[in-house]
Amino acid sequence: MFDLIIRNATLPDGRTGQDIAVREGTIAAVEPGITADAGEVIDAGGLLVTPPFVDPHFHMDATLSLGLPRMNRSGTLLEGIALWGELRPTLTKEALIDRALRYCDLAISKGLLAVRSHVDVSDPRLVTAEALLEVRDLVAPYLQLQLVAFPQDGYYREPGITEALTRALDMGVEVVGGIPHFERTMEDGARSVEALCRIAADRGLRVDMHCDETDDPLSRHVETLAAQTVRFGLQGRVAGSHLTSMHSMDNYYVSKLLPLMAEAQMAAIPNPLINMMLQGRHDTYPKRRGLTRIPQMLEMGINVGLGQDCVMDPWYSMGTGDLLDVAHMAVHATQMGSIDDKRALFDAVTVNSARIMGLEGYGLESGCHADMVILQATDPGEAIRLRPNRIKVIRRGKTIAETAPEVSTLMLDGRPGKVDPAAYAPKAAQ
Ligand SMILES: [Zn+2]
Repeated sequence: MFDLIIRNATLPDGRTGQDIAVREGTIAAVEPGITADAGEVIDAGGLLVTPPFVDPHFHMDATLSLGLPRMNRSGTLLEGIALWGELRPTLTKEALIDRALRYCDLAISKGLLAVRSHVDVSDPRLVTAEALLEVRDLVAPYLQLQLVAFPQDGYYREPGITEALTRALDMGVEVVGGIPHFERTMEDGARSVEALCRIAADRGLRVDMHCDETDDPLSRHVETLAAQTVRFGLQGRVAGSHLTSMHSMDNYYVSKLLPLMAEAQMAAIPNPLINMMLQGRHDTYPKRRGLTRIPQMLEMGINVGLGQDCVMDPWYSMGTGDLLDVAHMAVHATQMGSIDDKRALFDAVTVNSARIMGLEGYGLESGCHADMVILQATDPGEAIRLRPNRIKVIRRGKTIAETAPEVSTLMLDGRPGKVDPAAYAPKAAQ
C-alpha cells in the first residue's frame, strides 16, 4: 500500500509508461505497471513528470521591486544599480519578507522548488539578510532557499563590507559570494577572490561569485577563481555566475581557461535572460550578446546550471518565475536546437542546478524525495518549446499547486472543437 501512485508518466530520460510510487514523502519505486493500491492515484496520461525546477541564481531581496522608487527609464544595468542604491536605504524587513513570499508563491505555481538567492550585504544594517533568513524558514515546508552573502557594491570598495559579509555568514547565510570584476582594479578583484575562497574553506562553505559579468575580453577573474578553488581544496563547491566576458574572449585563451575550470570542478551559472538584455550595451553593430560559452562548457564536462537572476526588479522588468523561459532563451541564444541539446538545457534547469546547490534526495529515483512536477508536455524539448502549464506540483508526495491544462475551444466549421498545444508534439519524438 502506497500513499500515492502517479501512473503512466514519461520521464525526462525518455522512458515512457512509468508508474511512480510514493510512501511517506519518498519515492518508493519507479517502474511500469505497479499493481499495489495507493491512497491517491494520479493519471499522468503519458505527460512528462520531472523533478522540480531549480533556480541556482536569483536576487530575492530585489524581486518584485520594479517601480520602487521609480521605473528604470533607460533599461540599462547602470541605471538599475543606481535605482537599487536609492531603494536600499529605504528597505524594511517587513516589505522584503512580503515581496519574497509573494515571489515564492509564483515560483511554486511554476514547479520551482529550490532557489539559490544572493543577498546584498552592502548595507551593513543587513536588513536584507535578516529578512531572507526569516523567509528561508517560512518557506522551508515547500521551497528550499539557499542564501549567498553577496557584496553587491564590491568587497573592498567601501569600508565595513568585509565585516558585514562575515556577519551575514555568522547569521546563517550559507554560501560565500563575490563580484571581483566590480572591485576598483583587477588586482583588488583577484585579492577578493582569494580572501573569499579562504573564508569558504575555513568555514566549509560553498562559493558562488558573480564573475566577469562584463564584455571585457581581458577580464581574468574566472581563471583566478578556478585557481583559488584548487588551491583551497574547494573542488566541486564553487560556481562562477554569469561569466559573460568569456563570450568576448580570444579563442586561444578560452582553450586554456575551460580546462582550468574543469580541473577545479567549477560550475557555471549563465543567466540567459538577463545576459541577453544587459550585455553588449557599449557595442553598436555587430553587437555582442554576452552569453557565456555554454556548449563548449558542456563538451568539457563542466556542470552548467541556468539561473533567472532577476524577476521584475530595477535591472530587469521581465521574468515570470518559470525556469523554462530561461531554457527557451538559452536554446536560441546558444543555437542549441537539437534533441540532445534541448535535453541538456532541460537538465541545466533541473538536475545540474540541484548539483550546484548540493540538494540532497533530488531526483526521480527510488529513495529520492517525492518532489515532482507534471507538465502539459510530452518530453523535455517540448517542455522548453511550450513552457506549458504545471498540471501538478508535488512536494513530499502532496500536491501543493495545480493548474488546469491549457485547452482552447474553437468555433470553426469543419475544424476540431478543441486545441491542446501538447498534442502538436512531433511524432518522431514519441
Ligand atoms: Zn546576479
